[in-house]
Amino acid sequence: MTRVGRAAVYDAPNAPFVVREYPVRPVKPREVLVRVTMSTICRSDIHSYEGRRPNPVPGILGHEIIGVIEEIGAGVERDMRGDPLRVGDRVTWTEYFFDGECYYRDVLDMPQKCQGLRKYGHDRADEDPHFTGGFAEFCYILPGTGILRLPAALSDEEATPLNCGVATVMSVTEAAAIGMGDTVVIQGLGLLGLYGVAIARARGARLVIGLDAVPARLEMAKRFGADLALDVARLGDDATVRAVRDVCRPDGADVVIEVCGVPDVIPHGLGMLRVGGRYVLGGLVNPNADVTIDANVILRQWITLRGIHNYHPRHLIQALDFVVANRSRFPFAAIVDSRFSLKELDVAFRKAAERTVLRAAIIP
Ligand SMILES: [Zn+2]
Repeated sequence: MTRVGRAAVYDAPNAPFVVREYPVRPVKPREVLVRVTMSTICRSDIHSYEGRRPNPVPGILGHEIIGVIEEIGAGVERDMRGDPLRVGDRVTWTEYFFDGECYYRDVLDMPQKCQGLRKYGHDRADEDPHFTGGFAEFCYILPGTGILRLPAALSDEEATPLNCGVATVMSVTEAAAIGMGDTVVIQGLGLLGLYGVAIARARGARLVIGLDAVPARLEMAKRFGADLALDVARLGDDATVRAVRDVCRPDGADVVIEVCGVPDVIPHGLGMLRVGGRYVLGGLVNPNADVTIDANVILRQWITLRGIHNYHPRHLIQALDFVVANRSRFPFAAIVDSRFSLKELDVAFRKAAERTVLRAAIIP
């Protein structure tokens, strides 16, 4: 008898999810089969769902996933850190996988940009092995994925966002080269921004300022260590720039990080920086993010402008270690503030898109 599992299938942008069954076959060598315990809705899932970026159909969205190992294929013995992997272990894994030769990985140490790299939550559900997305009962971890065993102390709410949101923020804040005594501005206080506040603090920032237009997020930013959380909708853009420059003495912020996904914030962010400041883009994941900037500002102000997409496997290890070490200091679990079943995925997506929930969890 063939075993089957359920998945909430995405058939077309903006169409309701349909719960369907697919066969669950035994693992092949170098694969791991996981029973999903929790997955969370990332902003990029919403972009896919609303049709702003291409995703194959029928598909299973969701790439922030954790689960418990059901079967381990031949050749998989240890996780990225060297800890043994066994059936019953709860694990997280890199949101992308690539198995083959790669110039970017082998020569340039950028495995996250390998050409032909695949991502969980971005494959067709009607093809073997069917289960490669988070909004389902099972997920196959495929060859070329970095796996990490999760310590028992970590809750599912703390562990699930690690492999996209938190690891990405590790990568973004590393690229921003935040140093001791820096002043840091974070544009956007969703999951990435809240973790960004906490990680900037941990990296030695003396002053961290969070910007958003949702009052509940501004309150939350303070719990994550922000010295100042400014309501950009109430203040307006010019007054926000002035308020930031006023506290980042003598001449503006050392670092500005964009994690809100809105291109219009870029000119304002540039206006907050001191001469020689660094601006890192981490949230503009959808194409056609057009914006007009005065490039002379970049030249005259000696601005370093960087884009960061995906993360290196080391950032997933750092993300896990950071959350384990700081879970009593910051309320990480509070970010995952709602729970839904597979059948409720439409409601979960609607609430996540409206930003009435911070991070919606799906428990299949
Ligand atoms: Zn994501």
